[in-house]
Amino acid sequence: MIAVLKQGTTPEQTEHLIKWLKNMSLDVHMSQGKEVTILGLVGDTSRVDIELLKSLEIVATVKRVSEPFKQANRKFHPNDSVISCGDVKIGGGNFAMIAGPCSVESEEQIIEVAQAVKAAGADILRGGAFKPRTSPYAFQGLKDQGIKLLLEAKKATGMPIITEIMNIRTLELFEDVDIIQVGARNMQNFDLLQELGKTKKPILLKRGLANTLQELLMSAEYIMSEGNENIILCERGIRTYETYTRNTLDLSAIPVLHELSHLPVVIDPSHATGRAALVPPMAVAAAAAGADGIMVEIHNNPACAMCDGAQSLTPEQFNELNQRVQKVREVIK
Ligand code: PEP
Ligand code: MN
Repeated sequence: MIAVLKQGTTPEQTEHLIKWLKNMSLDVHMSQGKEVTILGLVGDTSRVDIELLKSLEIVATVKRVSEPFKQANRKFHPNDSVISCGDVKIGGGNFAMIAGPCSVESEEQIIEVAQAVKAAGADILRGGAFKPRTSPYAFQGLKDQGIKLLLEAKKATGMPIITEIMNIRTLELFEDVDIIQVGARNMQNFDLLQELGKTKKPILLKRGLANTLQELLMSAEYIMSEGNENIILCERGIRTYETYTRNTLDLSAIPVLHELSHLPVVIDPSHATGRAALVPPMAVAAAAAGADGIMVEIHNNPACAMCDGAQSLTPEQFNELNQRVQKVREVIK
């Protein structure tokens, strides 16, 4: 349920109303826009006498929110959320280019790629340390050593870093990581989501291979319900009957998620297509459709990559892609 307050309501009146609502065991989330203040109520709202609430002098309107996601809902928070990590902002008109290898493989590799993508205009460095692989015999990532190398690349380039967490027991290794990624396979690992909700770290939450957009928003809600509102949603392709591409990129997720939610939306065309040649056109299309950022896999020698070489671009290809994306951004402004 949301209550929109009338213009001119004083902070004391708002505070008084919040106290009254909290006494009904409700959580109250305030969204203060330039013109309106909205109180979002979470909990058993059947306790609220809606007619009584509407009749209060400071209340303009009261509406029930029918969707099961509340804090992620744009009705609770009409303005776009802007997620900050270091000097980089994502959302609300701020666009971030995230680039780097699928996995951190060695010091030389991650430093070389980091410097190359930075020179080509990337804002954030990606690199997997803990890798969720389909086969237990495949390379599983350098794990804690991988995070150490990423931190070295962060020091060498000044770029914020993003890397995936698979198990909450490793959380302390992520202290200096700027954005924690929850991969597609863990989108509904609710225990993990709740624990990440107790941190203040920005979380990039990837859509599961076979999950609906509503389920993605419900997973965001799991994190937000524990107090962490710093969430970036990521569409990375879903499984369909098409086998030519690794997955099927659902670009309509961008306007749909923007309509339903205030959280920023990033597109990962690398995992979505699985083929390097398809990554630039899909990245350009994502920018045209209003994405708040793009995350792409880059390798200095894709043919020798330990993971996802077929979908990795070279730094030179990334440079060209980034220029095209920036041109599209200018056009749609
Ligand atoms: C990744 O980004 O490295 C990754 C494993 O992606 P996804 O979870 O989308 O498969
Ligand atoms: Mn990958």
